[in-house]
Amino acid sequence: MAIIAEKGVALVTGASQGIGRAIALRLASDGFDVALNDIPACEAMLATAAEEVAARGRRAHCILADVSNDQQVETMVFDVVRVLGGLDVMVANAGISMMKSIFDMSTFSGTFLCYKYAGKQMMAQGRGGRIIGACSGTGKQGQASLSAYSASKFGIRALTQCAALEFGKYRITVNAYAPGPVKTPMWDDLEVGIGTPPGVLEDQLSKTAAVGYVGVPNDIAALVSFLASKESHLLTGQAISIDGGRHFD
Ligand code: NAD
Repeated sequence: MAIIAEKGVALVTGASQGIGRAIALRLASDGFDVALNDIPACEAMLATAAEEVAARGRRAHCILADVSNDQQVETMVFDVVRVLGGLDVMVANAGISMMKSIFDMSTFSGTFLCYKYAGKQMMAQGRGGRIIGACSGTGKQGQASLSAYSASKFGIRALTQCAALEFGKYRITVNAYAPGPVKTPMWDDLEVGIGTPPGVLEDQLSKTAAVGYVGVPNDIAALVSFLASKESHLLTGQAISIDGGRHFD
């Protein structure tokens, strides 16, 4: 049996870039061993992120898997436990670009499968746990042209509440982060989708935030750091807005 880091083992999906990568590195700095997942097309970037986890003195393990595939998520969780010795924190971060059709709802199914298999594993371990999902401002307020994305993020809020109720008695908390605009590769896709020149969207969105600017991945990672900690035990079933003051619950 592997020797588990004092803080435990975290699995972060969609960890090769953007918010997921920042979360993986932050959790490594916090003292977690970290399993990093992404799709095969991102293998090289995932390996680089894993090297940065290792540079923080923690064990890193890469898993190539599609989180919208039931079998692959089950195998992924099994693999994390086999290699790193358990699972204490699941961050179901992976998401697809917002400009997708209504037929592509893998964001929701991927989150559902991650909650399901992480919850099963954490219950079996009997030492509690933290399950954390990626919601969005569009999971609180619908937006034109983002129907599939927005509906999937509303769904993640519902899933987070239901899982929190079901898993609470096992000392497993379930929460989500709900960012406003954050500068990541997903953002670049959005600019292309909308057809705005680089910089214009950032200017427009900055004006709609109370603080007057948009977020960066490390801002979200800092919130996840708290959600993953032991100190957050009383917080569950929430989708926490982190958007510089754009939406007030
Ligand atoms: P990103 O596109 O930069 O990174 C997402 C990562 O997820 C990619 O590496 C991608 O390959 C991976 N991924 C996609 N589908 C996958 C699958 N089926 N299996 C495994 N990996 C998969 O995105 P980001 O901006 O870092 O967003 C991360 C999360 O935060 C997403 O869930 C997104 O919806 C949410 N979010 C982002 C923003 C933003 O403005 N960037 C705002 C609100 C919410």
